[in-house]
Amino acid sequence: MERVFNFSAGPATLPLPVIEQAKADLPVFPGAGASIMEISHRSKTFLKILEQTQADLKSLIGVSDDYHVLFTPGGATQQFTMLAMNFLAGKKADYLHVGSWASKAMKDAGRFGTTRAAWSGKADNFVRMPGDAELDLDPEAEYVHMTSNETIQGIQFAAEPDVKGKPLFCDASSDFLCRPFDPRKYALMYAGAQKNVGPSGTAVVLLRADMLERVPANLPPLLDYKVLVENDSMYNTPSTFTIYIIGLVMKWLRDEIGGLEKMGELNRMKAAMVYDAIDNSGGFYRGHAEKAHRSIMNVTFRVGNEEQEAMFIDQAKKAGLDGLKGHRSVGGVRASIYNAMPVEGVKALCDFMAEFQRVNG
Ligand SMILES: *Cc1c(COP(=O)(O)O)cnc(C)c1O
Repeated sequence: MERVFNFSAGPATLPLPVIEQAKADLPVFPGAGASIMEISHRSKTFLKILEQTQADLKSLIGVSDDYHVLFTPGGATQQFTMLAMNFLAGKKADYLHVGSWASKAMKDAGRFGTTRAAWSGKADNFVRMPGDAELDLDPEAEYVHMTSNETIQGIQFAAEPDVKGKPLFCDASSDFLCRPFDPRKYALMYAGAQKNVGPSGTAVVLLRADMLERVPANLPPLLDYKVLVENDSMYNTPSTFTIYIIGLVMKWLRDEIGGLEKMGELNRMKAAMVYDAIDNSGGFYRGHAEKAHRSIMNVTFRVGNEEQEAMFIDQAKKAGLDGLKGHRSVGGVRASIYNAMPVEGVKALCDFMAEFQRVNG
């Protein structure tokens, strides 16, 4: 019955204090006479949770009413097409083709217009992000779409690309709120909740208010940002329990971690521990990403030979380190060390790596 260290890419580990608070609020949320799952989304209790969650998120990242915070069904994948229906709409857009998720975002959006790779890392097996000088931007593009962190390959932008004034759209599913950022550089940012902020099935969307003017008429209502904004994410019954958990994660980030600056420091430290273990292994562990583009959220690497790799994952699991198998499309090992992965978990992984190499290296 013990809780393992869960290195899974998502649904991923959540902060233990959040899980414990949720447990304390079952079966009765204080004052509500029932649990959050059982009360109306129009109730005072839930509306307060929704409002507070949006306010806490905005204050963590430092925006006010010039941005809308939405909670949308269908996760990040739904956003691939939703953003295209709203903002591509038969026209052209540029995509930074930096990994598996960028491929999917570009392909799905392509049903609603012309999507084109302004840069592609495919020929090099997606080991790095582009530099600004490498971007081949189309002056007629409606927007530029980026994936800030490629979850499968384990590469991450160190800073926003310069997109020459075009609206910048960002799939931040696997590094949302992992460090401070300047929200004003983005017209749209979205993240599947299950990596860094909550349970699966919902995307958190940050949309610059002026973008609404571009939304065409008569889209299916749940896929229309205008409708979602006008109804405060409640055109249908939203995933109330998920929003409640996201709210708890926001409080945890603010009160227990101390905000995004602190979160970033902690994440950089955790990532450095694993990358040091790789770099100091004399080649027994081999990182996938080029060093300057390494993700601080998803650490991807190979172990010894193939047989040792399988053994590594198997023995790690027995030692309480779960979810380390790399994505089926790239193989190897992937340690997802999101915001909620405690330093002790990373320490346990590094100790395990050293011991495994001592025995098998
Ligand atoms: C996980 C992930 C997605 C897909 O998220 P869903 O919520 O499953 O749709 C999209 N983009 C990135 C970068 C991801 O890591």
